[in-house]
Amino acid sequence: MSHLDDALEYFTHAARIMDVGSNIEKLLTTPVRQLKVEVALKMDDGRVEVFTGYRVQHNSARGPFKGGLRYHPQADDAEVNALASLMTWKTAVVGIPFGGGKGGVAVDPFQLSPGELERLTRRFVDQIHFVIGPSLDIPAPDVNTNSQTMAWIADQYGKYSGGFEPGVVTGKPIQINGSQGREEATGRGVAFCARWALEDLGLPVDGATVAIQGFGNVGSWAARTLGEWGVRLVQVGDHAAYLANPEGFDAEALAAHVAASPERSVKGFPGADASSAEELFAADVDVLIPAALGGVITEQVARSVRAKVMVEGANGPTVPAAHRLLVDKGVTVIPDILANAGGVTVSYFEWVQNTQRYYWEKEEVNQRLERILRKAWDRVMGLGSKHKLDPRTAAFILAIREVGTAASLRGI
Ligand code: GLU
Repeated sequence: MSHLDDALEYFTHAARIMDVGSNIEKLLTTPVRQLKVEVALKMDDGRVEVFTGYRVQHNSARGPFKGGLRYHPQADDAEVNALASLMTWKTAVVGIPFGGGKGGVAVDPFQLSPGELERLTRRFVDQIHFVIGPSLDIPAPDVNTNSQTMAWIADQYGKYSGGFEPGVVTGKPIQINGSQGREEATGRGVAFCARWALEDLGLPVDGATVAIQGFGNVGSWAARTLGEWGVRLVQVGDHAAYLANPEGFDAEALAAHVAASPERSVKGFPGADASSAEELFAADVDVLIPAALGGVITEQVARSVRAKVMVEGANGPTVPAAHRLLVDKGVTVIPDILANAGGVTVSYFEWVQNTQRYYWEKEEVNQRLERILRKAWDRVMGLGSKHKLDPRTAAFILAIREVGTAASLRGI
């Protein structure tokens, strides 16, 4: 089963409950445009390497295509397609006026020098510039891309569009028209969902425990925000190491360690015990947050989960059979299309600010973010409890309803 099969299965499960009909179902499962390009890159030593890049535009019934761009060796057609469709549902769940898209380059960015990385990004823009734009398709950071990547994209795109247009990408550095609060937004949203789920279960937030897989942008900001509320991070892991600390990690210090490490990993953080992925997923914690790559929560892993709440920081971390198992076990699973929607929500704020040429204070961004996510939370949980649906199915139903209605209104 690929990530695409998984995403389709979640969609179909909800669509059949709603009885949307085969026309709308066909429309909503077919991407509008799929672009695959070969990016030739001159390496520092003079060799030429060629990397495959993708941009998939899934749906724009509710607004311009929107979604991240990842640099990862496993990026391929199926993965980017699945992730593009998740963006369509995500933007609809939180009610921001965007569709869904996703891009990627099949590359291990840790093998490239900073110069090579910049040239790769610019060459990729040369290949896709005609399908992106502030009213057309707006990329953003995702796995292994960041504000610097977005700065290069905006700059290179400006060479084609007749001037620097900040609204072509979001997640830019503040100095070049980025938004306050964008960097931490996805992790903050994940933390909000963890807090609300604990509160709904009647469990205390202060003193709760959490295990987080992935300590990049999403995992580290989720940990730091939860830490402010007294939640203890007791297990953490990434591509290079798994660590445990029953007393709780200092999330700020751990984030500083990762930022300074050449491997961008928690590896070598002092004062921790060695752990493993198996131990992290099976940890006796209140909250489990997969915040790395997709497909990690398999049936076998799901069987071992002891957390009461699982919040999907990553996109597509849970395979459908594992999701059923977790729901049957009574684990509250907050799905990616709600849990990690904080990032794209503040991307929307960034794009609005770019359009208005007027910039907001961080407090305003954070307040608006919480308000939008809380509203989406209430709608998803309200529908779920009314019809006895798990949160993922409820979120898909809400999203499909919004996108289906927009598509019908605009006409096929
Ligand atoms: N890559 C993030 C996501 O998967 C953010 C996308 C965006 O801001 O457009 O939601």
